[in-house]
Formats: sequence, C-alpha cells, structure tokens
Amino acid sequence: TKEQKAIRQYEDGEDEAYLEKIQMIEELRMAIHSENSPLFLNYQPKLNLSNNKIEKAEALIRWINKAGNFVNPEHFVSLAEKSGLIVSLTHWVIKNVAMQMEKWNEIGLSIRVSVNLSAQDIQHPEFVDYLLSTIEKYNVSPNQLTLELTERDLAENEEIVIERLSHLQTLGFQISVDDYGIGQSSLSKLKTLPVDELKIDKCFILSLEACPKDQDIVSSTISLGHKLNMQVVAEGVENKESLALLASYGCEYAQGYYISRPIDADTFVEWYKNYVP
Ligand code: C2E
Ligand code: CA
Ligand code: CA
Ligand code: CA
Repeated sequence: TKEQKAIRQYEDGEDEAYLEKIQMIEELRMAIHSENSPLFLNYQPKLNLSNNKIEKAEALIRWINKAGNFVNPEHFVSLAEKSGLIVSLTHWVIKNVAMQMEKWNEIGLSIRVSVNLSAQDIQHPEFVDYLLSTIEKYNVSPNQLTLELTERDLAENEEIVIERLSHLQTLGFQISVDDYGIGQSSLSKLKTLPVDELKIDKCFILSLEACPKDQDIVSSTISLGHKLNMQVVAEGVENKESLALLASYGCEYAQGYYISRPIDADTFVEWYKNYVP
C-alpha cells in the first residue's frame, strides 16, 4: 500500500516530509468521510460597488486537524489535488454549500455563492451529474451559484473544459476566472472561454492605494474585462482608499478584509442583517 511504501521510504531515511504528507492525506480523507466532520466552510461577502449591496459570497474551506491545529487551505487543497482527493473534497464542499443555501433560501437570504473548483473537478466525468443532482436535492437553483476556476485550471484539457462550462453556463451557473493576472494567459485567450466574472488577483489590490503601477494594471484590466462582457471582482480589498479607487474604475464587486473576513455561516447571517455600507 501507499502507506507501507511511505514507511519504507521513511525508514530508509528517504523522505520524512513525504510521510507527513501521506499522513495528512489520510487524515483529510477521513475528515471528508466522517459524520462529524472537522471540515467546515467560511463565507466571504462580495460587495456590489454600484448599489452597495452584498449580492454574492465565496465559500472557503476550513479544516481543524486531530492535533487541534488550523491547516492552511492552500496547503491541504494542493495536497488534495496531488493525491486525487480533490474530487471528493469538492463534492463535500458542493454538498455543504447546497445544504447551507437551502437554509438561507428558507429565511429569505438570497445570495449567489461561489465554489472553488480545480481542473480535476471539471474534467471528472461525473462532475456535472453530481453538481446538478446535489443542488436539486437541496432546492438550490443554478443561478444561485458561481463556479470559480483559476486561469491555470481553465487551460488544462481545453476542449472538454469549454464544453462543460458552456453547458453549465447555459443552465444558469456563473463561471468565474480566479486569481486573474498572475498566470500566463491573456484576456484574448479568455474571450474563447465561457466566462461571466473576472477576479483580479489580490496581489494587484493589496497595495492599490500606494502603487500607481497597480492602479494602471487594475484599471485597464477592468476596462478590458468589461469589453469582454465580464463582471469584475477585486479581491484583497483591505482599506477604504482602494475600495474608492475600484469604484472610480467601475469595478462591479469588491471582496476583502475591509468589507469582511471569511466568516462561518451563522456569523455571516448576523453580519449580513446588520451590514451598513
Ligand atoms: P482563493 O480562491 O483565491 O481565495 C481567496 C483567499 O484570499 C482566501 O484565502 C481569503 O481568505 C483571502 N482573502 C480574502 N480577502 C483578503 C484580504 O483582504 N487580504 C488578504 N491578505 N487575503 C484575503 P483562504 O481562505 O486561505 O484560501 C486560500 C486558497 O485556498 C483559495 O484562494 C483557494 O485557492 C483555496 N481554497 C479555499 N477553499 C477552497 C475550496 O473549498 N476548494 C478549493 N478547490 N480550493 C479552496
Ligand atoms: Ca476563489
Ligand atoms: Ca483568488
Ligand atoms: Ca488561489
């Protein structure tokens, strides 16, 4: 088995870090399948800058491991991608987002929630069926969901990806390009993809107020996004100066600590009810 192989390598002094990774993957696998899961979701709002309303939110996964430590999502998501566990992790996320949205629909909280996908998810033959049957089960409609994929995820296996995403878009899902600007692709390539939303990577936004170069990059990315009929989201908005700049550029949505950190579902409801722009 994988574990035995790992232990052998460990005893051979080959790779200590490797054993740690295997253990983490095994623990994550159990976490995904356990009844009382140590996984949970946080939600971070996206503020519509033209009407000052919270219309969207991003679901972000959290994990507290057996040792009681919070594990960095970037770290375990990347391990899940390397080990193939990402498909069941994403299923977990979709199911739990759908369950949460059913509750929110019942109390009249209407918000479009985005889920982060990896290349393997969208390429998996059962992805579309799983997504559709799960949201149907919880009475969530496709136009309440956004699917976020990075440029890199979109570049893999292009034909299948374009076909699936077009199908999903026709059904009402919004498609979002995440972390835009740090990959290799260009907006001209994006025009061949079915994309509704462009998320400018936070590295261009974090110091926007202090950096004229970032201001040029961000304002021109926003205009190009608009020319391609996309809504633009800026993530990593940490202060009111950058928020004001983004509004002046005509950016549709802002997401970041200045508006709210990612918060658990109950806190989100309270926050949402009390939100004053
Ligand atoms: P991402 O999709 O780009 O998510 C945005 C990240 O930026 C989140 O980190 C969020 O907490 C952080 N962020 C938001 N506003 C600010 C801000 O104003 N300043 C700063 N410095 N950071 C801000 P998080 O939650 O740690 O997630 C990291 C990454 O892990 C995500 O990046 C995404 O790639 C991945 N991830 C998280 N949840 C999921 C999931 O459910 N599925 C998948 N496949 N990946 C996920
Ligand atoms: Ca994202
Ligand atoms: Ca991002
Ligand atoms: Ca990311």
